[in-house]
Amino acid sequence: MSETPLLICGDAFNPEERDRLSSAWPSAFVSGPAGMADLDLGLRSGIKAIAFKGHKPFGGDEMDLFPRLGVIANYGVGYDAIDVAAASTRSIGVTNTPDVLSDDVADLAVALMVAQARTMIRGHAHVASGRWAQEGEMPLSRKVSGSTVGIVGLGRIGREIADRLAAFKCEIHYNSRSEKETPGWTWHGDVVSLATAVDFLVIALVGGPATKGYVTREAIQALGPRGVVINISRGSTIDEGALLDALESGAIAGAGLDVYENEPNIDPRFLKLANVVLQPHQGSGTVETRRAMAELQLANISAFLEGKPLVTPVN
Ligand code: NAP
Repeated sequence: MSETPLLICGDAFNPEERDRLSSAWPSAFVSGPAGMADLDLGLRSGIKAIAFKGHKPFGGDEMDLFPRLGVIANYGVGYDAIDVAAASTRSIGVTNTPDVLSDDVADLAVALMVAQARTMIRGHAHVASGRWAQEGEMPLSRKVSGSTVGIVGLGRIGREIADRLAAFKCEIHYNSRSEKETPGWTWHGDVVSLATAVDFLVIALVGGPATKGYVTREAIQALGPRGVVINISRGSTIDEGALLDALESGAIAGAGLDVYENEPNIDPRFLKLANVVLQPHQGSGTVETRRAMAELQLANISAFLEGKPLVTPVN
């Protein structure tokens, strides 16, 4: 093993995660891909594995700085920050952390639906401000159980969301590239057809260039004035300008969002809206799940450095 085989990349790693990695192998740290070129050539020449966390782009130019690099182990299931094609061309393996976070992200999606429809943020303010005692009841809200829901992307997380909403007696529709085996859920070949059929549109797609703007202006319009968009995937999967237009004009009823373009400096138009529930990209952000993600990332690096098959390979 080279003297320092591991580079920990990302200021998003918390101290516990960094300690766990650096106590497993001799390691160096860099806050993001942009800082890699400043690392000493001798250090770079020994790096075999990179533990990556964050959303800053990691491309072929950065990979070329590490002649012995064999694996990029991503912390998170979504690896859209990493140029996987560039890694494959260079025979570099990419791994992610699937499944262990699906429950948490699905929980948050359902929570966003309920919080938006049942006006829970407003309800909290009504109590906390003392207005309840002065003004009495709030305006009535909207029922979630039994509603019609469309899932965009019935992958691991999408299916967990659908399973939860089936228990809410919702009518489940979905859009994915091919029809799946389901307990009778309705498949739509395109997202406009899906949006036309449902009231809640829940986006659970992968991010990256292939799905950029997948939920189009036309699809948002097709949802109609009772429509609510829930997005726990990536900000890039929806036409964000069109979403903002529809939220401002009342063309749709509202949104529950965990992800945005330009995080964390999101479009200020979102901050003026009363019909949204906004979360700071915290879908997988529980103590339990973040620990499981860190363990899976570490298991992938261990496997690679010990010459064993990667646990959760992407490419
Ligand atoms: P997954 O199992 O791979 O499912 C991804 C879905 O995306 C599948 O339904 C797949 O459709 C669809 N898809 C992939 N490429 C596509 C393309 N080119 N065009 C159309 N559809 C495409 O992934 P997952 O584990 O459910 O995770 C989904 C995403 O959730 C992640 O990639 C990440 O961006 C996001 N996420 C967010 C958080 C958060 O904190 N908010 C946390 C974790 C993950 P097919 O079924 O047709 O293949």
